[in-house]
Amino acid sequence: MHPDVQSPALSSAEALRTFREFAQSTLLGHDAEFDSGAEPPLELYRPLHKLGLMNWWLPTEYGGAGLSLADSVDIVSELAYADAGSAFTLLISILGSSMVQLYGSQELKERYLTAMTREPGYASALGSERAAGSELINLTTTLTRRGDDVVLNGEKMFSTNSGFADYLVVFAKSAGAKGVASYHAVLVPRGTPGVEVVKRWDMIGLRSAGTYQVEFTDCAVPSANVLDGPGLKIIEVGLNSSRILIGAIALGVARRIRDLCLEYAIAKPLAGHKLIENAVFAGKIGQMEMQIEVMRNQCLAAARDYDEVMAMPDPAREFLQRGALRSALTAKMFCGQTGWQIATVGSEMFGGLGYTNDMPISKYLRDIRAVTIVEAGDDVLRELVFRRFVLPSDRRI
Ligand SMILES: Cc1cc2nc3c(=O)[nH]c(=O)nc-3n(C[C@H](O)[C@H](O)[C@H](O)COP(=O)(O)OP(=O)(O)OC[C@H]3O[C@@H](n4cnc5c(N)ncnc54)[C@H](O)[C@@H]3O)c2cc1C
Repeated sequence: MHPDVQSPALSSAEALRTFREFAQSTLLGHDAEFDSGAEPPLELYRPLHKLGLMNWWLPTEYGGAGLSLADSVDIVSELAYADAGSAFTLLISILGSSMVQLYGSQELKERYLTAMTREPGYASALGSERAAGSELINLTTTLTRRGDDVVLNGEKMFSTNSGFADYLVVFAKSAGAKGVASYHAVLVPRGTPGVEVVKRWDMIGLRSAGTYQVEFTDCAVPSANVLDGPGLKIIEVGLNSSRILIGAIALGVARRIRDLCLEYAIAKPLAGHKLIENAVFAGKIGQMEMQIEVMRNQCLAAARDYDEVMAMPDPAREFLQRGALRSALTAKMFCGQTGWQIATVGSEMFGGLGYTNDMPISKYLRDIRAVTIVEAGDDVLRELVFRRFVLPSDRRI
């Protein structure tokens, strides 16, 4: 726990209770404001910093709360229940910070991870380009060595939090080089000359989050800011934690949709009764509950796999060998697809009203839509699962 932060370290159960109270008291019930597309409401999240729970996954040695990824599943679900865009803003820093934690030098870790707990800090990861989203091997941002520096040039299409993050983890390819060793992950601190935020995207969902297009022009940082390892493997490893937590966004939104359906059914008259007494309605909600239960279990199973590797003597090396965890890939895919099914059933539940903006279901539909798109679409992940985990090892490429 950082000395500026007053609260003592919380247990997992206390932390979850605190997040639930925060989500219910600060976020819940403000759907229209969050959906307006206004600037990300970062001030709203400050109380989490005071409680020592901003970037809650960071280890205690860097001033963090040291909560596990398994703890994070229910935390993100509670946040997303109230607002998926806020949950996305708060969790996505784990992608950048986990790569620095695993593959950054001791100096980078002490400087940039500790800064994220001293002030309410954010990180951003910049992989996607115009012709390289799912397939980062096609990226064209270049890295050139110049004396003790590396210099970045190129454009990154989508990156969440990059408009205000304390540091960016940028993926680039050594100019003129070939092979996996030519891809690098580079930490670029905020304020470095040569970084320009071109625009904030007008996304259809997760509208309280900020996703930006960023350009690099002769952006020089010390060579010591290059993370240690092959860039494409580093991002594959980093995506394990964020994919699981993006799955947990679908879980939280699905729980909210279930509860909205219940609230509606209690009041809705139907053939002399109320909708809640109807057997077809009961079947729909029973089905949702089964799906929600399995979504949570899959996220937890994947998070435990991740925590198990992180507890090993050399998690960075172990992860380089394992790459993407099967359970993390399937958690994101399963939650995205199942969440979308739940959102579809939910939107039909309210009849014509469900097709209006008077009901928040339209926001939940649009929010949940992102889960099967960000951090590689399902077509790409299905193929990855097939190639890595289904094909016999002697046929893998
Ligand atoms: C809200 C949001 C936040 C984001 N935040 C970030 C971020 O912080 N950092 C970052 O780097 N990126 C971010 N992204 C980008 C995101 O990760 C990419 O959009 C995503 O990986 C898909 O890549 P793409 O846009 O290039 O689409 P493509 O991969 O080009 O997909 C377009 C179409 O091609 C199909 N396709 C692609 N490859 C294959 C294949 N091998 N086989 C069959 N079909 C295929 C897809 O299924 C799809 O139908 C964000 C995107 C969104 C929407």
